[in-house]
Amino acid sequence: MKEANKGKKNIIIIFIVFLILGIYPQEARAKGEKDWRKNFKGIAFWHGDPKKKEVALTFDDGPYPVYSQQILDVLKKYEVKATFFVIGQSVRKYPWVVKRMAKEGHTIGNHTWTHRSIINRSGGWAQGEIGKTHQEILKVSKESAYFFRPPYGQFSAKFFEVVEDYHYIVTFWSVDPSDYRRPGAKTIAYRVLNRVKPGSIIVLHDGGGNRSQTVKALPIIIEGLKKKGYKMVTLSQMFTLNNAVIK
Ligand code: ZN
Repeated sequence: MKEANKGKKNIIIIFIVFLILGIYPQEARAKGEKDWRKNFKGIAFWHGDPKKKEVALTFDDGPYPVYSQQILDVLKKYEVKATFFVIGQSVRKYPWVVKRMAKEGHTIGNHTWTHRSIINRSGGWAQGEIGKTHQEILKVSKESAYFFRPPYGQFSAKFFEVVEDYHYIVTFWSVDPSDYRRPGAKTIAYRVLNRVKPGSIIVLHDGGGNRSQTVKALPIIIEGLKKKGYKMVTLSQMFTLNNAVIK
């Protein structure tokens, strides 16, 4: 009888331990996530206005001399404006590419100095990554950046203050054809055209590796979007001229 009670007691203790280790942190995490979204209301966006038939083409990880220039050539040919999330240390290395982006009317956004994940880093570290890039963009393009995209789309509440200091609007994306995995130009274009909706923010890459498939896919994407009746806008146009909404 005593042994049975002891067994029961142990089971209850084990159950409580599991409850504390398992369920509580999950709930706390869920709550944290909810708070995180709440904190970012108004400064973080995944898409634009779903009632407007406009989309934003965004290019990450440049400037990268060969592919960024080829993408700029395509955009120029079709008279389309886009947004480039640039890496600070590459801006310093290839300033002429960023100068051309600005001159041709594209929006330039901050994508940190080194493109390392900002998760589990200190606020001071983030300040350096974001601030140094902000200054470099300003120096090269003569324009202040208003948009920030964290590397790998990873972000935490800790960076809220740093981003807020610069009055940055954090923009993620709603359409990702995974062009960086190089599935083929036709597949990249098909994925974009198949998933696009009014207000979509499309993420593509002009830097960080061989982007010849993205360059090849771009005319198919632009022609397809035009055929579907979409207007292509920069993030500046999407978020400052229109009333943006967040999910
Ligand atoms: Zn990136």
